Formats: sequence, C-alpha cells, structure tokens
Amino acid sequence: MSSLPWHRLSRTKSTPSPTGQDPVNSPGHDDPQITEGAGAQVRSGATSNLSWAARTDVGLVRSHNEDSFLAQAPTFAVSDGMGGHAAGEVASAIAVTTIAEHAPSHADDLLLGAAIEIANTAVMEGAATGKGKMGMGCTASAVSIEQNKMAVAHVGDSRVYLLHNGALVRLTHDHSYVEELVDAGEITADEARVHPSRSVITRALGSDPDMYADHFTIDVFAGDRVVICSDGLSSMVEDSQIEAIAVSSATAQAAVDNLVAAALQEGGSDNVTVVVVDITDDGIIDQHRKRYLTRFALIGALIVGIVAALFVAASLFVSHSWYVGVNGDTVAIYHGVNASLLGHDLYALSQSTTVQLSDLPEATQSNLQNGVVVASEKEAEATIESYREQIAADKAHAQEIADKSTAGTETSTDNPAVPTNKTEGGD
Ligand code: MN
Repeated sequence: MSSLPWHRLSRTKSTPSPTGQDPVNSPGHDDPQITEGAGAQVRSGATSNLSWAARTDVGLVRSHNEDSFLAQAPTFAVSDGMGGHAAGEVASAIAVTTIAEHAPSHADDLLLGAAIEIANTAVMEGAATGKGKMGMGCTASAVSIEQNKMAVAHVGDSRVYLLHNGALVRLTHDHSYVEELVDAGEITADEARVHPSRSVITRALGSDPDMYADHFTIDVFAGDRVVICSDGLSSMVEDSQIEAIAVSSATAQAAVDNLVAAALQEGGSDNVTVVVVDITDDGIIDQHRKRYLTRFALIGALIVGIVAALFVAASLFVSHSWYVGVNGDTVAIYHGVNASLLGHDLYALSQSTTVQLSDLPEATQSNLQNGVVVASEKEAEATIESYREQIAADKAHAQEIADKSTAGTETSTDNPAVPTNKTEGGD
C-alpha cells in the first residue's frame, strides 16, 4: 500500500501538440480522442428537470485515459485515476461504479460521502485482489441533485463548480499540497496552477481505510450550471476562462465540448474530463404554485363563509323587518325590507288594506312610497289604524268646511235652517 501524498506523472502546461496541429476536439469537430478507460466516452441526456453532457479525452500527451465519469441522474461524478497504465483507469472505474451503486436517490450529502468512502474500500480491495495494481488510487467528486438541492461529496483535486447568475464559484476544496500553500497564504491561486508540486495530492481513494469525504448540500436554481471536472481542465484553463466558456455555451453539450477543447488548446497535457449539468427546473415554481393554490383555496373558502354569514344575517334581518308601503292605490303591510338584491325582492305583501293612498297627505304618501319601517306587524296595523283615523278626521274636517261654506251660501237663500242643523249634528 503506497503512502500519501500521491505523486502523479508530472505534466507541462506549455507542452505543444505532438503533431503540431490544432486540437482534434475543437468546437464543432466531432472526433474526440476517446479510446481508453472505463467511462471514456461522450454521453448526454436529460430528465424533466436536468440536462447534462459529459466528455472525457485522453489529451495530447498521455497515451491512455485514466479518468472516469458517471452521468446517471440524479448522480454525476468525475474520478481521476492514478497509478499508471492498467491501474489508474481501473481505480477510477471502480470508484464511479461503486458510487453509482451506493449513491442516494435524493440530495443527501452524508450518504453521497459514504458512497465515496465505500468506493475507497472497493479500490483498495481491487488492488489487493489483483484487479488493477497495488498503489493505484483516484479522486472522486460527486453531486446528487434533487429539485433545488444539490449534495456534493468530494476527495482529491477534481473539482465541482457552480455557475449561478453568470458567476462561476468553485464549490470544492482541492486536497492538494498547493491548495494548502494557498490556504496558508504562501502562494496565490494563480501561482498554485503552475507550481512544480501542483500534482501532489493529499487525500485520495485507494490507500487509507479511514479516508473520509468532504460533503455538504447547497441550494441550486433553474438556470444554474454545474461543472464537474478533472484537473486536466482546471490545471490547464484558468477559472476565469472556464467561467467565460460556461457562460457562453448554449447547451450542456456545447459547454463540455468547448471546455475540453479549451484544455486541449492549452496543451492537453493531462486527461481531460468534464461533466456539465444544467438545472432546467428546480421545482420552486411548482412549490409556489401549490402554495398559491392552497392560499387561493383558503381565501375562496373564507369568502364563501363570509358571504354565507352575511346571507344568514340578511335573511334574519329581513325576516324580522316590517314596513308599511304602497300596493297599487292602497296602503299595505309588507314583511321584509323595501329593497331588491340581485333582482330578488327582499319583501313580501303581508296584508292589503282599503286605505286609499290618495286620502293621505302628500308627505305621508311620499314616506309610504319609500316604505315606513315599523318594529312589528302589530305596529304596522296600529300605523294603518292611525291613517284611518287621520283620514276620517280629515274628511270630517273637510265636511265641516264644506258645510260651513254651503251654510254661508244658503244663508243668503230662502232656507238657511237645514244646513245649520246639519252642521250642529256633525259637531
Ligand atoms: Mn488528472
């Protein structure tokens, strides 16, 4: 069993293309040099909420590809193998196969980290049982995406980036010697990329049975793009350029093609593997829709309740209301209120009377047209009775005036006695 830290084959960033020609994997050129290593291929796919593409390339210097990737929604991973021919690619293949078997179906970073730890054991067992070689190892960077949650688990110097709102953020911390120097403030991130010891990694699968994976979960949103890559991309291409390519590539497929092409353009001195996953639907709109529907249903139920309560209150009010009004030429007693609601009368004729509207004073007639509200049917009857009395009194008064007038006229005639007696009888 080899001891940490791992030393990988040295590589030179400025190595020119061996044939001096353009990188074969440039955008639009569909003839990648992908021949060796498990998972060494191009793959793409989509679900209702994710769209992804993956590409691995042997590069322009190495003779074989030790990288492997996993693109099996909702889990995506990159593993960079070490240990030389017939070892590194075996280690990375065991890693992605084991992660695929043990990864959770939901965004649980603890379980995803555990899957990488099981893969560590599997790589060690593979070496011990002659599957591959002793001393083989690999990195593993994996994500599991569920709605708007993404679990991340990671060991080594492969990376997970997140492109959100046009800005690329690296989510993982390299387990490498140069990253420790950067953390200690001794060198900058740019210096780390070209540092002579940049290939020394401090944590990997395949040597330490107690190895553990970094793991965490973050929120992701529709429109976000996840980039998982081996150091064959990140050591060749600056983060700012990775960002520019990730921003400008229309699809996940275009993004992986352009990123791999950029690594080859910069020299392609290592195997290059890139997995890009686009979050096309984070489920948030669906959650909001459900929340709003629930809210609207509650508001609707509340409105129906209020309307029903108002209706009951109005019905009670109407059934306890009385008024004296007009029915044709006569005065009548009504049950309810003198109004209509939505074309429906809120009153009913209770009693009609012989009291003529025209016998009442104009002001009283006007009041009756509007309805004279009373407390009860009894009070209504009393009101009608008062009208009768008033009419009788008015008639008597009118008669008296008429009689006086007649008497006055007849005083000048031959027989004044008769009207005078009538007047006396009326008193
Ligand atoms: Mn590598």
